[in-house]
Amino acid sequence: MLSRFMLILLCGMGLSLSALADTPKVLTTIKPLQLIAAAVLDGIDQPAVLLPTGASPHSYALRPSDRRALQQAERIYWVGPELELFLERLLKDQPRARSAIQQAPELTLRTLGPALNFQHTEHSHDHHHGHDYHHHEGMVDAHIWLAPANAQAIARWMVADLATLYPEQQAHLQANLTAFEQRLELLNQELALRLTPLQGKPYFVFHDAYGYFEDAYGLRAEGVFSLSHEVQPGARHVNLLRQRLRSVGPNCVFREPQFPPRLIDSLSEGLNVFSGELDPLGSEVAVTAQGYEVLLRELGDNLATCLERL
Ligand SMILES: [Zn+2]
Repeated sequence: MLSRFMLILLCGMGLSLSALADTPKVLTTIKPLQLIAAAVLDGIDQPAVLLPTGASPHSYALRPSDRRALQQAERIYWVGPELELFLERLLKDQPRARSAIQQAPELTLRTLGPALNFQHTEHSHDHHHGHDYHHHEGMVDAHIWLAPANAQAIARWMVADLATLYPEQQAHLQANLTAFEQRLELLNQELALRLTPLQGKPYFVFHDAYGYFEDAYGLRAEGVFSLSHEVQPGARHVNLLRQRLRSVGPNCVFREPQFPPRLIDSLSEGLNVFSGELDPLGSEVAVTAQGYEVLLRELGDNLATCLERL
């Protein structure tokens, strides 16, 4: 009788232990933060990510499984209420809400300038990734991870914050941080070398996400087409955008993974427009200690490959 009880008890313990082992201690909202966490936790732990591939942080709605993951994680890293609106209310009463990366010292924050967006004639408000992300002048630009200096600041802040969670691995965390900083330094030089000659070449994007990257390398988009990927713009709107594309001469238009190439084709047909793709979230990047560098290098490479044709 006793042994049977012990067996049941042990089974129960075994189950809960394995469930604990599967629960990530560190949970980030978006992939770029997961990649930076993976660099500092290399060889120590595996950070998890909340948003599935293809989801936009600007418009995400939490699933029940997300709420469980948020409850179980010991650290939650998110950018802040300008990006992950869906977390603001949920984290307000929890001390873990202080893991908003936007609060990290040493971060260089930029505010959104006058909208580069084209005025909508057929829609009363901006559609961003098909949803309601509004570009507000003076608001903090939430895409803070898209500059190497900010990635360094985020990594330093994470290492300081993780010291209490991994007290035995402080030296390892520090060594990972140093290695990450050195690799970022090299990447920054590599990107500057490639992008500096391309300053002033005209390009358009579909999402006002690249300000930090542009500030770092002296680039600036001619304009942002904030169009919905769900609603095909009307002929009048397409014509206005085509006039704009024509007026700047040869240029590049960068789609994002969520915008169908079909839309770019109808915008640029018959014009001297080249197209490329930018993915600010690194959706396809593998989660490794070098993942963040892959994200940034691909962004720079995709930008440069098109601009070099002009
Ligand atoms: Zn965005």
